[in-house]
Amino acid sequence: MAGVYVHIPFCSSRCSYCDFFSTLRLREAGGPYVDAVVAEALLRRGELRGASVRTLYMGGGTPSQLPMPLLSRLVMGLGRAIDLSGVEEFTIEANPDDVTPEWARSLLPLGVNRVSMGVQSFEDGILRAIGRRHTAAQAVEAVNRLRDAGIGNISLDLIYGLPGQTVESWARLVRQTIDLAPQHISAYGLTYEPGTRLWRQRESGQVVEVPEEQCLEMYRLLVDMLRESGYEHYEISNFALPGCHSRHNSSYWDDTPYLGLGAAAHSYDGRIRRYNPGDLQQYIGRVMAGEPAFESEELTWRERYDERVMLGLRTSRGVDAARLREDFGDEAWRYFTREARRHIDAGNLMMEQDGRYVLTDDGIMLSDSVMRDLMWDD
Ligand code: SF4
Repeated sequence: MAGVYVHIPFCSSRCSYCDFFSTLRLREAGGPYVDAVVAEALLRRGELRGASVRTLYMGGGTPSQLPMPLLSRLVMGLGRAIDLSGVEEFTIEANPDDVTPEWARSLLPLGVNRVSMGVQSFEDGILRAIGRRHTAAQAVEAVNRLRDAGIGNISLDLIYGLPGQTVESWARLVRQTIDLAPQHISAYGLTYEPGTRLWRQRESGQVVEVPEEQCLEMYRLLVDMLRESGYEHYEISNFALPGCHSRHNSSYWDDTPYLGLGAAAHSYDGRIRRYNPGDLQQYIGRVMAGEPAFESEELTWRERYDERVMLGLRTSRGVDAARLREDFGDEAWRYFTREARRHIDAGNLMMEQDGRYVLTDDGIMLSDSVMRDLMWDD
């Protein structure tokens, strides 16, 4: 079983908080880029080692910026390079202002059955301030258009801790989101990434950061409100109606191999991480010359152990101690269970009957420090 991720690095403007790799050069680079991604798929399909591809995810950037003929050329090209007949979940990320009725109607025929939309907020003033191009009304309209077009699996992304947001306005936003009844919700706390416009605005005093205690309150409120509305909290930042977990993202958390295509995409096969360059020119040039563009790094034993613990604890499945022992040996298992005991006694962790260690609600609030304690300490 494997997943394929395709990075579409085009945006029509830059949001103030974003440090993802993206460019505004869709018009001149869109066609050559799509052809390069297909060429890369042909070049690297062997890395899948015959595993059946179950999930395909187009992220960005803004994949919904790709004109439909280009998106279609990309999907057809990928389908010729890689066997996609076993794909059960095909997600595309979209911005609400790109979701026209025509765009939405073109998705199902391409095989797309899930749309992940960056809504972020329902307050127009805040949306404008962080450089988003859409309004709250456009986000609502986009959800309706996707439903009308038969897309039955919609995920909405939210950000809490945005400048100007209060606990009360956040509660209203969560309520509005629940009322839209998406199958899946991802919510991330705002981070101030060095080099972004938002970072500079904070440095110059133009923007005031929401205090950490208030952000925690927003997060607690989110968890409570979504649970009461029937959403399962299956990963620290992710919530889903029963049966609607993101299968693609779950594969990142449970060690399933994935092939990442496109500029700045990462791949992982259980041992080796491969990183494509975050540079369009370099990426297209190398791939079209028939060479892989990636740099690779084999993870050490310690890195793999730390990833297993950290990614496992982020999810409601937790860390399976028996599997940890099988894969990393008795010493690692003894270390993990000894450190975990302290956090069980403190109420941050619990052990399920089948031997999985899972963060409690209190533990989720302290997740960084619990994870640090359980990671390998030489
Ligand atoms: S649309 Fe997405 S990728 Fe593009 S700048 Fe905004 S947050 Fe970043």
